[in-house]
Amino acid sequence: MLDTIRGWLGRPSEPWRPRSYRVTPTAAGADVNYDCYCGCDAGFALDRSATDTQPEHCCCGNAILVGSAAAARVAAALDDPAAFRIDVQELRMPWGEALEVALAIPQAADR
Ligand SMILES: [Zn+2]
Ligand SMILES: [Zn+2]
Repeated sequence: MLDTIRGWLGRPSEPWRPRSYRVTPTAAGADVNYDCYCGCDAGFALDRSATDTQPEHCCCGNAILVGSAAAARVAAALDDPAAFRIDVQELRMPWGEALEVALAIPQAADR
């Protein structure tokens, strides 16, 4: 409730992070989506058979990656890692595996 009021005022009490992720089973694996602060329904399409997955980017500059060591891999893919903070959460996939979800958020979004 307090968060809602802070949202109305446009002054978040803490840096933005996804409130939750939505995991949807797909033929290849799962779609992991979140409501981005820019208004997009952003996310990552996880293909369980892919070995070299790249982060998916939102129009605001967020980069998301799902999988083992996701935080390290998303950081490695950034041009300027210092310009981002990385939010890491663990999500249960439809097949029972818990995977790391790493979201690189531009520090500029915190201003
Ligand atoms: Zn967007
Ligand atoms: Zn966005």
